[in-house]
Amino acid sequence: LDQTDGEQRIAIVGGGLAGSLLALALARRGHGVDVYERRPDPRRQDGAAGRSINLGLSKRGMQALAMVGLLEQVLARAVVMRGRVIHAPDGSTRYQPYGRDAGEVLHSIDRNELNRLLLDRAEALPGVRLHFEHRLLRADKARRELELDSPRGRLTVRPLWVAGADGAFSCMRRELQHGERADYHQEYLEWGYKELTLAPLADGGSAIELTALHVWPRSHCLFVSHPNLDGSHTLTLFLPHEGEESFATVRTPEQVAALFRRHFPDLQAMLPGLLEQWASHPTGSLITTRTAPWRFDDWAVLLGDACHAVYPFYGQGMNSAFEDCCVLMAALAARPADRAAAFSEYESARRPHTDVLAELSKANFVELRQKVQSPWFIARKRLDLALNRLWPRRWLPLYTMIAHSTMPYGEALARSHRQERLLRTVLACALAVGGVGLAVAALGVPV
Ligand code: FAD
Repeated sequence: LDQTDGEQRIAIVGGGLAGSLLALALARRGHGVDVYERRPDPRRQDGAAGRSINLGLSKRGMQALAMVGLLEQVLARAVVMRGRVIHAPDGSTRYQPYGRDAGEVLHSIDRNELNRLLLDRAEALPGVRLHFEHRLLRADKARRELELDSPRGRLTVRPLWVAGADGAFSCMRRELQHGERADYHQEYLEWGYKELTLAPLADGGSAIELTALHVWPRSHCLFVSHPNLDGSHTLTLFLPHEGEESFATVRTPEQVAALFRRHFPDLQAMLPGLLEQWASHPTGSLITTRTAPWRFDDWAVLLGDACHAVYPFYGQGMNSAFEDCCVLMAALAARPADRAAAFSEYESARRPHTDVLAELSKANFVELRQKVQSPWFIARKRLDLALNRLWPRRWLPLYTMIAHSTMPYGEALARSHRQERLLRTVLACALAVGGVGLAVAALGVPV
C-alpha cells in the first residue's frame, strides 16, 4: 500500500475534461484530491503534434466552468459560433442562426488547451496531486483499494472514495459493476471520422466565415468544421467505415481526390495538403453507451463518458460531462453526512436525462446529414425561431433548450413534444376553417 496516500483523500481516475474539472471543484471545497491519469502530462507535450481538436462549448458546460471560476478565461480562448453555415453541393451557402440573440451562441474551444488549463488550475490548489502515467488496473470494492500501474511499478492506494472519469472505455465502470446486477449497452456507429485542418489564409484571415460552425451535408458523408482562434478550422469528415464509398475503399490519393471532387469540390480547392493529412491522420470510431448503476455504496461513482458516451452530433458530450460535475457537487453539498445517498440522488437526477441525450444525439446525426437542406426543415426552423421571438418564455425550440439552457434533457424533449402537438392542433384547426393564409394568420407569424 502506498503510504503517501492517506485514507481521507478522494481519488479521481482519469484526468481528462470531466476528471480535471471535478478535481478543481472538490479542491475548492477543501478536499484533498489525487488524480490518476493513464497518459503522460499533456502540458509537457507539444500540442498533439500541432493538431487542434476542438469542441463546441454550450450553456451546460459554461455553467460548470463558472462554478469553478474559469468561465471568463475559457471564453477568452474560444471562438464564438453564432450559427451554422450549410454548404450545398453546388458551392452555395445558407446561414442558420443558433438562437434569437447574441446570448444564444456556442463557443469553439481547443480540447487540449482546455484540458491543460483545467489541470493547471487544479494543480495550483493546495489539496490536489496529479499523477500522470498512472493507469487503473483493478478496484477492490471490499478492501476499498485501487491498484494502479505506474512508472514506479504496481501501486495500491486506499482513497476515501473514488470518482471514475476515465472515458468511454472506463476501467472504473467495469470494476464498479463487477459482481453487481448491472446493465451495459454499447453501440458502435457504422460511420467513423477523420479530422483535417483548414489552414488560415496567408494574411491570417479565415478561408471561410470564422464565427460559425460549417456543415457540408451529403446523404452518405458529412463534413463539420469548428473554428480556431488563429483563423484555422478543424474539419471532421464523417464517413461509413465500410461500403462503396467508405474509409475502407477511399485509401489511395486518387480515391481521396475523387471523393472530394464528387462531394466537396469547394473544400478540395482550399485544402492543398489534403492527401498528406489524409494519410497521416487516424480514423476514429464513435460509440454510444448506456449503463447502470453509476455508483457503489458510499465509495465509488462514475461521471462523463465513463457512464454515458454519446455520438458527437448534438455537441453535448463534454457539456453533459461537465454538467455531471455540477449535479454531483450539489448532491454532495446537500448530503454532507450521507455520501451513499448523495451518489444515489446524483444518479437518479442524471441517468434518465443522459439516456435521452443518447437518443437525441443519434437523431441529430440524421438532421445534420439530411434534414438541414430540406425546404420543410428550413421553414420549420424559421417558424420555431419566429414563435420563440413572439413568445420567448412559452415557446422554446428543442435546440435552444438543449444548447442554450440547463433544463434537464428529458424535460426539454417532453416540452418539445408538447409544443409540437399544440402547433399541429392550431395548424389543423386553422386549415380546416380557412386555408393556409388563415393558418399563418392564426399563429400571427411571418413564416
Ligand atoms: P475523456 O475526455 O475521454 O477523458 C478520460 C480520461 O481518462 C483520458 O484522459 C484517459 O487517458 C483517462 N483514462 C482512461 N482509462 C484510464 C485508466 N484505466 N486509468 C487512468 N486513466 C484513464 N463534446 C461536446 O460537448 N461538444 C463537442 O463539440 C464535441 N465534439 C466531439 C467530436 C468528436 C469527434 C468526438 C469523438 C467527441 C466530441 N465530444 C464533444 C465529446 C467529448 O469529447 C467527450 O464527451 C468528453 O471528452 C468526455 O470527457 P471525459 O472526461 O468523460 O472523458
